[in-house]
Amino acid sequence: MTQSLDKIEVKKITGVSAQKQGELHAFGVSTVKDLLEYYPFRYEDYRPRTLSEVKHGDKVTLETKVIGIPVLQRFGGKSRLSCKMVAEPWMFTATWFNRQYVREQLTIGREIVLTGKWDQKRNQITVTDYEFPDRGEGKTGTLQPVYSVGAKITQSWIRKVIHQALQQFGDLIPEILPQLILRKYDFMPRKRAIATIHKPEDSQEGQQGRRRMVYEELFLFQLKVQAFRVLNRGRMDGVVHTTDNATIRQFVRSLPFELTNAQKSVELEILHDMRSPYCMNRLLQGDVGSGKTVLAAIALFTTVRSGFQGALMVPTEILAEQHMRSLTKMFEPFEITVGLLTGSVNGRKRKDLLASLQMGMTDIVVGTHALIQEDVFFRSLGMVVTDEQHRFGVNQRGVLRRKGYNPDVLTMTATPIPRTLAITVFGDMDVSTLSERPKGRVPITTYWVKHDLLERVLKLIRREVDQGRQAYLICPLIEESDKLDVQNVIDLHIQMSQAFPDFKVGLLHGRMTPGEKDEVMRAFYSNDLQLLVSTTVVEVGVDVPNATLMVIMDADRFGLSQLHQLRGRVGRGVHASFCVLVADPKSEIGRERMSAMTETDDGFEVSRRDLELRGPGDFFGTKQSGLPEFRLADMTADFDVLEQARDDAAELLKDAQFWTSPDFAPLRSYLQGEQIFQGDLID
Ligand code: ADP
Ligand code: MG
Repeated sequence: MTQSLDKIEVKKITGVSAQKQGELHAFGVSTVKDLLEYYPFRYEDYRPRTLSEVKHGDKVTLETKVIGIPVLQRFGGKSRLSCKMVAEPWMFTATWFNRQYVREQLTIGREIVLTGKWDQKRNQITVTDYEFPDRGEGKTGTLQPVYSVGAKITQSWIRKVIHQALQQFGDLIPEILPQLILRKYDFMPRKRAIATIHKPEDSQEGQQGRRRMVYEELFLFQLKVQAFRVLNRGRMDGVVHTTDNATIRQFVRSLPFELTNAQKSVELEILHDMRSPYCMNRLLQGDVGSGKTVLAAIALFTTVRSGFQGALMVPTEILAEQHMRSLTKMFEPFEITVGLLTGSVNGRKRKDLLASLQMGMTDIVVGTHALIQEDVFFRSLGMVVTDEQHRFGVNQRGVLRRKGYNPDVLTMTATPIPRTLAITVFGDMDVSTLSERPKGRVPITTYWVKHDLLERVLKLIRREVDQGRQAYLICPLIEESDKLDVQNVIDLHIQMSQAFPDFKVGLLHGRMTPGEKDEVMRAFYSNDLQLLVSTTVVEVGVDVPNATLMVIMDADRFGLSQLHQLRGRVGRGVHASFCVLVADPKSEIGRERMSAMTETDDGFEVSRRDLELRGPGDFFGTKQSGLPEFRLADMTADFDVLEQARDDAAELLKDAQFWTSPDFAPLRSYLQGEQIFQGDLID
């Protein structure tokens, strides 16, 4: 049996000591496989050029010959060595700093390849690297990989070790892509692709290697999520909800509004999944204010009437409190009990709630990640809803899910992304989209003003409040833990209290206790506060329909999606609403964000532009999003490859051969390794 590279420790590579192994470990490299997949992030170009191609200040590699006697100058503890050289037909001076030992090697007529910075004015190269072809030295003429390394590991060391690893273990690099695909795209074999990424013969070759490995990463990702769906579509061991339409209609009729058509069609999608034994794993995306909460309520109502319990998990305490209030109101007439579990529910109260959940006396629980603590048990959890999904890690959702026996899962997000992208990146979920906002909403007018117009902004605040409305004033905060930043909000609060002595100004930031925050939010909900000075703790989900003005200070410091979320706090009622961005952006990207905000208030359009401006890693907040981190692929730049890989994976999975033919054995064992057969991927 051949050894597998992910079982071989790096210290098996000649030249890697136990100590070096530890240092590599700090980079997440423990096995030979890890090391070979530790790709360079760029290349240094050592291909010789002629001086006519280079500009002043460029770094260049030249094939030269010594034509002068080297001159050594010393000053202080330092030295400078200069020598006349020729690179036909140019003559110039090569200069070495603090490397006087080079002098002996510079004999007239000797060939030497120099790399360094070209100073056109002085007709001189400051040498950083040199090689003597007569000694058979060989990095010249190549592209040298540059790795991300720390203080203890040098570029030359890691280059050497990777080279050594390829020599020693290269033959163990298995092919994983089937012939079918290798032929379709004319891909080079895996071993060669990996080798050439580390040491390309030329940039063409390097690009071919990269092309193949990017495809492979995206293809494996797609194969995994799609195989999961294929396998689980047939998986019929989910909860079967039995509530009939008439009962659900009763609940829907009790709501103070009629569902929009978009809500109605999503409702059908959700109920269809809930009634079938199919294990629902559905992503509901909709713009801010599109009315997602009511769909969560319908799902929770349905699970309770079918004899199960429901859980709603949200990312902040403020949001948990808000949902608690609105669900309690909605469910009261139906004698459905709702409990609240957050980090600040303690002692007796917590104990009682946990007991009641376990006995099935509390029908629905709303909470933060406090819900996933070990001692939280349900009698029969049938429905799990998470709100603002990008804030929860995949694992957190998984833990909640496992507190029931295959409950249905509905995940809601207010950062909508284009449908094709959603299907692609959330390939393991079904996607529902709320494309329409409730009728009767007036669009939000967005202005961008410079700081010197603050007086006008204050007037606008006064006008809204005088008409009985409320306003938010948001202050940027980079770190909730940073005292200085918190001070900004506090100062702004004092300033506003002085500017508006006749109305009440509230203050909200992350350093307040949950109890304090809740008190402020309650006061704002009931219009006891007219102006709320706050950090972004109100960013998601907060719903105060009487608020009509959102002022965002230093708005260019926020990301586009975040600005859109903040703006979504207004325009939730029947009154005309405004969003004012106060900013003097210094960067182009800052200006582009401001323009994007004033040009559109469509969340899909906003996220499209955000994606464009930021790139996907940032956009999805890689760590949080549950999306894989790719080593080479970039979800925006390589999006067309991702789509191609998606289609290829779909086609392959449809082919009965896939499950039997030896051609696909490596892919099958990859899937097995990813444990998708146990259904662990659903979260
Ligand atoms: P989001 O999608 O941002 O979570 P919410 O569910 O908080 O939006 O809904 C925003 C506001 O719209 C809430 O005040 C809610 O009561 C109201 N709403 C929801 N659906 C409708 C509807 N069909 N008609 C009128 N108002 C609605
Ligand atoms: Mg919401």
